[in-house]
Amino acid sequence: MNKIKTFYTPKQVCTNMTGSFSKSPLKPMLLMQKIKEKEYNTFFDIIDDFEPIKKSDFYLAHTKNYVDNVYNKEGNYNSNSLPWSKELVESLPYTTGSLLAAKRHAIQNPGELCFAPISGMHHASPDSGSGFCTFSGQVISAIKIYKEFGFSGAYFDLDGHYGNSIDDSYTFNPLLEKAIPRKCNVNPKGLNENYINDFIQQLDYIEEMIIGNKVHYVVFAHGADSHKDDDLGGQVNTECWLKASEVFAEWVNKVSKKLGKPIPVVLCLFGGYRADDYNIVLELHLKSLLTCNRIINCNDGLL
Ligand SMILES: [Zn+2]
Repeated sequence: MNKIKTFYTPKQVCTNMTGSFSKSPLKPMLLMQKIKEKEYNTFFDIIDDFEPIKKSDFYLAHTKNYVDNVYNKEGNYNSNSLPWSKELVESLPYTTGSLLAAKRHAIQNPGELCFAPISGMHHASPDSGSGFCTFSGQVISAIKIYKEFGFSGAYFDLDGHYGNSIDDSYTFNPLLEKAIPRKCNVNPKGLNENYINDFIQQLDYIEEMIIGNKVHYVVFAHGADSHKDDDLGGQVNTECWLKASEVFAEWVNKVSKKLGKPIPVVLCLFGGYRADDYNIVLELHLKSLLTCNRIINCNDGLL
């Protein structure tokens, strides 16, 4: 059985989250514990020796002033609404490092489904953090991938909240126009069936971009806060939330078949907030990951 290549190191986790509403900096660790508990190790192949990005890499998407503020606990260091700690700052080069390593592996081994267990990376703007996101790992990793491979990516951001990072960064770093072309940051709109239908329409657009050789890899960020019972979200019921993973995975197989080769795919986590039972967030993420694995990874024979 093919396993999901999972780019995880405890170094990307911040445990010092006292008083924080968001558990996102802890989520990768909690998810890994759950995988162990449920004996799902057969589905995940963990790669922990990837490199962190450099501090200067953050300048690809952020002003030097803001990056320095976060590192030195000065000025708007707290604009992410997360409690500052040295541990949080030290984890940041690893969270973006995880996403970058997953993208690189997926591009070099397109038949292998890759997973970066990372959350908040889609609200930060060039000069500040926002919504539990410190830096825009999605913009930084996309630009680095574009520089390294000349490859452009598309995001399926199914978090409950519109990810503004990409649109906010086009002026700051014009290379982003190539790294993530305009209209390739998909945030479906509507509720339940309308949400799924909107997603399907946007998948069609990205398919055209892939067939036209304008997009070369995709990232599926299935935030659990698009579930209706989430403390911060609420577009879809459980059935539709899970349906979105199936629709995505089947679309990947369809596009890969048309293309005659597998399209590189990276999965990630993004949001998810439940004060009553955080387990529900982890269970949703796991179901989405395993659905993608079941449908995409079992498709080898079709290609
Ligand atoms: Zn969110």
